[in-house]
Amino acid sequence: MSKPVVAVVGRPNVGKSTLFNKLVGQRLSIVDDTPGVTRDRIYGECEWCGRKFTLIDTGGIEPNTNDILLSQMRVQAQLAMDAADVIIMVTDLHSGVTATDSEVATMLMKSGRPVILCVNKCDSVGEPPAEFYEFYNLGLGDPVAISSVHGHGTGDLLDQVLAYLPEEEAETAEDEVVRVAIIGKPNVGKSSLVNCIAGENRCIVSDIAGTTRDAIDTEVENKYGKFILIDTAGLRRKNKVTDQIERYSVLRAQMAIERADVCVIMIDALEGFTEQDSKVAGLAHEAGKACVVAVNKWDAVEKETGTMAAMRTRLEEDFSFMSYVPILFLSAKTGQRIDGLFETIQQAAASNRMRIATGVLNDVLAQATARVQPPTDKGHRLKIYYMTQASTRPPTFVCFVNSAELFHFSYQRYLENRIRETFGLSGTPVRFIIRERD
Ligand code: GDP
Ligand code: GDP
Repeated sequence: MSKPVVAVVGRPNVGKSTLFNKLVGQRLSIVDDTPGVTRDRIYGECEWCGRKFTLIDTGGIEPNTNDILLSQMRVQAQLAMDAADVIIMVTDLHSGVTATDSEVATMLMKSGRPVILCVNKCDSVGEPPAEFYEFYNLGLGDPVAISSVHGHGTGDLLDQVLAYLPEEEAETAEDEVVRVAIIGKPNVGKSSLVNCIAGENRCIVSDIAGTTRDAIDTEVENKYGKFILIDTAGLRRKNKVTDQIERYSVLRAQMAIERADVCVIMIDALEGFTEQDSKVAGLAHEAGKACVVAVNKWDAVEKETGTMAAMRTRLEEDFSFMSYVPILFLSAKTGQRIDGLFETIQQAAASNRMRIATGVLNDVLAQATARVQPPTDKGHRLKIYYMTQASTRPPTFVCFVNSAELFHFSYQRYLENRIRETFGLSGTPVRFIIRERD
């Protein structure tokens, strides 16, 4: 079940990051008065009146000319329109309505997506000042007056967001469609893979050029099941300039990940593993999504005996922070092993939503603790009384223990591996929640 996505758009310095931090929680504050300061945090979890959603800050690049400003604003707006359920457009009371604001508002209006216009920096309580009414000219309905610094109006803003959120989906059934995000740095072959798949499989919905996100996602059906390939902000509709900006490719990846059941992390076989790959993979891992690593352009690699085995070993080291991830070697160009990719995706999706009965889980726990004794420290031995699965996507287990301190990472790893082996969990992270009990 993917969480709804709410995107924040707006010119630099209107207060997007301040608002973002206010809504997500103070612990992430990384606001700085200096323009151009890198603000890595682009998404966060938000909860209001019991509804959870992901908030994404699409801004963060400081353009130095008006031309660039406008083109960057278009990219932001496009990203939001493609991937968000609700868009918050932030403007600034002090600077008034600018030409860029009007342009962006028009773009957003045409998209038909729900847009909430807010006017930030309305710091005084009570009736908003006269300048506030100017923002009605943007044609996005009643603006919400907020002060991100003080927090005024943010409750009203969140109420409006909630009103626009789609109905909560029920837990998906076994045979349902698997949503797949193909993520990776520019030029690894993401669009080639989508095109290759779309060409070889029966496409249920053709990708009619349109503005709604459903129209650009590709739905395919094959002998492994039904899949939706999530196309966030134009795998097809490419933008040469912004494609090279790392922040945008990370943003795209993040937006796709939020909506996915399974993430295909693409690596370029000719380049090997890079820093940016680890960043993108880390996002999927943190989000608790099922993952598969696809090493693309395998056709272009000069191969000798053992080339694949050697590369696999190296990649297993690179991905040691997510050792559960299956690694496949394929070619989007020739179509080699694309079948295998679907099979692996399906297994990973099943693992990610697996629910293990408490009785069976505790049998495994009993066997595991009998085989390898839990650790001791100064005469105290770790006791794990009981285990139960609290949630799925990813499988999350609550362990009741006598002492959390004694439950060392290595023993958690051992238990995790026993559970993985017993239930055939592959391609998904699992989480442990440790509770102490006397
Ligand atoms: P961003 O570039 O849109 O992410 O903007 P920032 O969040 O970095 O904010 C830009 C500047 O506006 C900073 O100096 C903030 O302190 C200031 N700012 C943000 N929100 C408010 C607000 O509600 N009231 C006032 N007076 N200043 C604000
Ligand atoms: P994206 O930016 O990740 O969407 O990458 P593209 O799909 O646009 O591919 C970038 C380049 O890599 C293009 O020139 C493709 O033709 C090439 N490419 C993609 N997949 C393969 C492959 O499997 N083998 C080879 N040899 N080239 C590929």
